[in-house]
Amino acid sequence: MRINGHAGLACKTPLALAVDENNTVRVEPAGVMRVMKDLVVDFEMFWDKIRAVEPYLQPQGAEPEGEYVASNDSMLHLSGVTACIMCGACVSDCTVLEVDPTFLGPAALAKAYRFTADPRDGDREGVSRDRLRSLSEATGMWDCTRCNECVQACPKGVAPMDRIMALRDQAVSAGFTNNNGARHTSAFTESVGHSGRLDELRLPIKTAGGITNVGAMLSYAPVGWRALTHGKMPPIRHKNVENVEIVRRLFRKLEPDLAGPQIGKNSPFG
Ligand code: SF4
Ligand code: SF4
Repeated sequence: MRINGHAGLACKTPLALAVDENNTVRVEPAGVMRVMKDLVVDFEMFWDKIRAVEPYLQPQGAEPEGEYVASNDSMLHLSGVTACIMCGACVSDCTVLEVDPTFLGPAALAKAYRFTADPRDGDREGVSRDRLRSLSEATGMWDCTRCNECVQACPKGVAPMDRIMALRDQAVSAGFTNNNGARHTSAFTESVGHSGRLDELRLPIKTAGGITNVGAMLSYAPVGWRALTHGKMPPIRHKNVENVEIVRRLFRKLEPDLAGPQIGKNSPFG
């Protein structure tokens, strides 16, 4: 439920910590999910999303001849995400799910990561290509706005947003870059790495895949018109920040191949 406006486990929240100066505490049903009665919400949507990511190992290719023994390290790495108790707190407070119920959401995406990061899932190299391809589509990993609410709400330290960022890295490393999310990240990095600031005019164009994407360009027209008529249109000539070389140097250090910015494994910009 929500306790003083934020999702939490009522069974382990000491009342003494929840009451305010007037000795009151506000409790409400969990957010996002349909309220059935009083504080009871319907978890059907939560489970539908978990089922949608097919939460079971899917090894591809030839069956191993003997037992597949995963390394201790790979399993230790997963222990954080397997701590999920399916409480729904992250879903309750997800700011994207609040406005877009089609988003897979933090719990399901963290669950998906539990499998994409498991060396027994996917191909012989442990790359879960089918999952990553499907999670790269609309309503998947790229729809998260990184608001961090799910990280704060989770009582088990699963940190769903961090898992979603790791999914993005995995997807880009596996070559799934032909989508708005990956293009947006790449264009964002390229702009800041080049000029020290965001080029708000070109960012949506690059995100859509260029001006040849006529449908996307037309869909931007109403926003562009409103920006123009309200004096909010970004300048056509994009200027560098002062001392831009310092920014470029930082980027070169972090992303040595900035001539063609890389987003991928261990990228801080994923
Ligand atoms: S970080 Fe992403 S998944 Fe987590 S609450 Fe925010 S939008 Fe939802
Ligand atoms: S990720 Fe955390 S908040 Fe979300 S369902 Fe699992 S335990 Fe609950």
